[in-house]
Amino acid sequence: MRKHIVAGNWKMNCNFNEADELVNDIMSRLEEDQLPRETLMVVCPPFPYLEMTTDYANDSYFMVGAQNVSDREKGAYTGEVSAEMLESMEIDYCIVGHSERRAYYGETDQTVAAKVDQLLKHGLKPIVCVGEVLEERESGKQFEVVQRQVEQGLFHLTAEQMREVVIAYEPVWAIGTGKTATPEQAQEIHAHIRSLLAAKYGQNVADDISILYGGSCKPSNAKELFACPDIDGGLIGGASLKADDFVAIAMSF
Ligand code: PEP
Repeated sequence: MRKHIVAGNWKMNCNFNEADELVNDIMSRLEEDQLPRETLMVVCPPFPYLEMTTDYANDSYFMVGAQNVSDREKGAYTGEVSAEMLESMEIDYCIVGHSERRAYYGETDQTVAAKVDQLLKHGLKPIVCVGEVLEERESGKQFEVVQRQVEQGLFHLTAEQMREVVIAYEPVWAIGTGKTATPEQAQEIHAHIRSLLAAKYGQNVADDISILYGGSCKPSNAKELFACPDIDGGLIGGASLKADDFVAIAMSF
């Protein structure tokens, strides 16, 4: 069965000392609070803090992810970080296709597909973000937008590869805005994504894939979101920068 995952996307926040303190605080709270079984926490710090964060990682409930990866294998691509580099540092997960990367850095569904391929080739699990912007929601296009992103970013994969992927539904209008999708709005998109996966790969594969919700998720709304049958956890931005809130969200199953 699929895992419950609560992943923290720190974005471009924290200096080194703050990052060290944050991961330390998260770990000390986890020692006090027993995480519910089958719940995995993933922390995605900026690249320079990955190594420090992997010192805290374990194979059972706390893993580390990157926020981005190159779509190329290696070579003369100044400033890029390859999947092979992440693999060599034993990084387990990597966010791909976040709406900020799509909006500010021109990432397309094709770039997403190429990054997913790199990650899978090097044994990392992609956390692939999809979601509509406000105008698309207001014109009722959310289902078709998400369908296009899922099909073009992921449907070239084999069923075996698909089982390694985590999908995050993040309505762009809810990211960092304080506006959360209602559990009903989130559940209907999650169910739609799972039905697309079932039609392409079969129900067994679809049932094994974790689909996370992201967008102003916090301790006060996590419980009702995570209670929805097709919501398997969260991708958390702002609230992942506060150890208490992040751990409280992970305790919300
Ligand atoms: C995100 O950026 O992935 C996110 C969900 O941000 P926030 O929780 O701050 O809305």
